[in-house]
Amino acid sequence: MVIWRSRDPHIPAPRETFNQMLINAMESHIAANPNAIAMIRADVPTAPPMTYKGLLKLSKQIAFFLNSRGFGHGSIGSIMMSNCPEFVSFVLGSIICGGVYSPVNPFFLSGEIQRQLRNNGSVALFVEEDILETALKAVENTSVKIIVCLRNTTNTLPSGVVDFEEIRNLPDNISHIKPEISLDDMCTLPYSSGTTGFPKGVIMTHRNVSTMIAITALYFKKWNDLIGEDSRHILLQQPICHGVGFLVCFNAIINGASMVYLSRVDPIVFLTCIHKFKFRQIYVVPPLLVLMVKNSLVAKFDLSSIKVAFCGGAPLGKQLAQAFMRRFPHCRIYQCYGMTETGTSSHVPDLFDSSYSQKNYESCGNVCSTFEVKIVDPETYRELGPGETGEIVVRGPTVMQGYYNNPESTKHTIRNGWLYTGDIGRADKEGRFYIVDRLKELIKVRSIQVPPAMLEDLLLEHPKIADAGVVGMPDFESGELPFAFVVRRSPDLTAEEVKAHVAEHVAGFECLHGGVEFVDQIPRSPSGKILRRYLKEKLKEICNRK
Ligand code: AMP
Repeated sequence: MVIWRSRDPHIPAPRETFNQMLINAMESHIAANPNAIAMIRADVPTAPPMTYKGLLKLSKQIAFFLNSRGFGHGSIGSIMMSNCPEFVSFVLGSIICGGVYSPVNPFFLSGEIQRQLRNNGSVALFVEEDILETALKAVENTSVKIIVCLRNTTNTLPSGVVDFEEIRNLPDNISHIKPEISLDDMCTLPYSSGTTGFPKGVIMTHRNVSTMIAITALYFKKWNDLIGEDSRHILLQQPICHGVGFLVCFNAIINGASMVYLSRVDPIVFLTCIHKFKFRQIYVVPPLLVLMVKNSLVAKFDLSSIKVAFCGGAPLGKQLAQAFMRRFPHCRIYQCYGMTETGTSSHVPDLFDSSYSQKNYESCGNVCSTFEVKIVDPETYRELGPGETGEIVVRGPTVMQGYYNNPESTKHTIRNGWLYTGDIGRADKEGRFYIVDRLKELIKVRSIQVPPAMLEDLLLEHPKIADAGVVGMPDFESGELPFAFVVRRSPDLTAEEVKAHVAEHVAGFECLHGGVEFVDQIPRSPSGKILRRYLKEKLKEICNRK
């Protein structure tokens, strides 16, 4: 039996709950410099920066408010916002009360939001004004009792919706809020479809989250020192509601850095930030690299400061990596690998390996500190050795406790303490891992999850559709695009009708941008499971024909 372990030092689990960790860190930054800057808004340079003092005060005011509304131990608060200091304060305010933070993709439409709110029984929802209408539709028939809206106009809000400005006037004395929070209590509940089915709540305890932050801090420090990065500023261009954004954001807070943040993903602001702050390392997803390689505007910016690009969230194609290296010959490119369920990356690159070559950027990294990894034959469950290809299976202190209220999926994904990732890969003799395929159903569009089961369910609701199967169509810019195979019930059904039906119910990135193909039947196993391999083969033929 081969178990791969990290050569990096083991990180012991911190003894502080995540709220204590954050408060202690912020208090020490404020003690060292009362005017220390926590957040600088990059897309609106005139916006006043947020200090650590302001951020901590706001978090306590939110805790005061939530506590006064009965939000307490175990209550779930969902946040559907773009990056901003209020987002960070809502996370901390919720967990100060002993509650749980659950992110919702702000691009979701009301049906998708409602599914998530019902699934986890959220009692509070924090939104921005431009998505309030969608949110109000979504909260019908859910347990949400508290809706807070961050306004960006002077319009009055509907009754029952709390204006965020009222919270800014509340006291920040939270000495009466004393929930008994243990390291084993749930702290965050992000969503992931895992290897199959609909999105599920991923239970992360305070121990999980505090350990994630400690592990990430180890690598950020090592890498900053090696690259010579000025760690006083950190670039946050990823959404906080996604795993990497969460880690970058809260690491910056723990380390007292000033976060230069983009409220929404904006390639031009991203390039401006690198130009202005001379960042030496960037954390990117493949679609952002596509832009850096293809967009002529890139030439207008001085990006010579970048020494290392870390790419994750989806496979990095050879063609794209090479195009990036041709355009930025002074920059090394590495991949990281992980999933929502692993908390942090389970695989990180070895920057100290001086023999940089194709081996490095094609690899998704070596085992990250505190993780253990096996490769298992998905059919026989035989444990495999170096050079052999199978399912990547991981174990470590940041791996989720399970899926919320879903013991079946938990049992399927975590077996004997090991998390079955649904990704197929191999390791070489030096311990570098390579992801070669995906066993699970998941489609990733611009590195964001799109569960095919959800689109299939939606397609089957259409009266003219008898059956449907959705797979990812490879795409240079987006990584993959959802493509539907549809069996008509009615011969007059058109591809446009199918696409329009889906577009009515899901966010833009989840639409059938890959296309629609009508077929006589969807290949299924005797138990009714869609045989996606066949659909993928069929899609390959269609793509080759075009
Ligand atoms: P998420 O939970 O949204 O972070 O998605 C995790 C999934 O993204 C993984 O299980 C992989 O399928 C995919 N993924 C993430 N990083 C990589 C990578 N470097 N190479 C290939 N696939 C990746």
